[in-house]
Amino acid sequence: MIQSVAFIGLGAMGYRMAAHLPQHFDTVYVWNRNFEKAKQHATEYGTQAVELEQAVQADIIFSCLPTSQEVEDLIATVQIKSGAVWVDCTSGVPESAKKLSQQLKASEVDFLDAPVSGQTIGAENGTLTVMIGGEAAAFEKALPAIQAFGKLIKHVGDSGAGFAVKAVNNMLLAVNLCSVAEGFTTLKAHGVNLHEALDCINASSGKSGVTETVLPQRVLNREFPLTFALPLLAKDTGIALDLVRDAKLSAPVIALTQSLIQAASNLAEKDSDFSSAVKMYESWSKITLE
Ligand code: NDP
Repeated sequence: MIQSVAFIGLGAMGYRMAAHLPQHFDTVYVWNRNFEKAKQHATEYGTQAVELEQAVQADIIFSCLPTSQEVEDLIATVQIKSGAVWVDCTSGVPESAKKLSQQLKASEVDFLDAPVSGQTIGAENGTLTVMIGGEAAAFEKALPAIQAFGKLIKHVGDSGAGFAVKAVNNMLLAVNLCSVAEGFTTLKAHGVNLHEALDCINASSGKSGVTETVLPQRVLNREFPLTFALPLLAKDTGIALDLVRDAKLSAPVIALTQSLIQAASNLAEKDSDFSSAVKMYESWSKITLE
């Protein structure tokens, strides 16, 4: 039985994910580096804003930080309750998950890599996809808490497997983003109406999440709302490329896409949404996708 849960990292994703927990558990601790956010969360959702030392005394401890580095740094500073399960929803590095899982075993703490997909709207609606790596018993133990914000929840393998699936998923998003930017600047160069073209493609075999949502809802309307930062996508494509290299495989599309997304991220203004990657193509072609 889970008596208490905690959520560490109330960013664009974490703030919304943690909001579902009080509907299922009486004791929900939240902690954030900028502590005002934790206090605001407590006021808004009835969670308890507590010091980090107290948050890590919960039975199930969630984290959702930018990268595995912040998770490792934070774990190094705390004494986690014996018997707890740490569920890391960061889009992290598989090797780091394996390392933390081994390291925490000494304190009888289980570590699950449990990255999520579905963007901020999925976090808000509690409909995220959660891909989980780690031991089956820890997965079963944490599942009732994960169900608070997850809709499709899959145990995909041993430690690191969840992070690997997430990195490959985001690489596929990045490949689509680049190819859609190239395809649609080409169409515009040929005088094609992009909105009509998009309708045709979304009823045809070339459709993807990028054509169905990113292009119409972020690019063609020129809104580029910041919900998933472009440097975070560049981080994910880097993790995917490292996985390819670790396996000594050839994956030229992945290597090229990682370069393109990293370049787009380097060129982008501060606080750019991932969809802003198309602006690199717009500056090359002098064509605006609208
Ligand atoms: P945000 O940048 O919005 O939030 C980051 C969170 O991490 C904040 O709570 C921030 O605290 C905290 N943080 C940053 N650095 C540190 C540190 N050194 N020590 C302690 N806390 C720290 O990121 P997102 O919520 O967008 O993303 C979080 C993770 O989820 C990333 O791995 C991302 O790739 C992944 N993700 C994001 C999605 C999205 O649509 N945004 C979708 C799916 C996955 P503070 O408030 O103090 O800055």
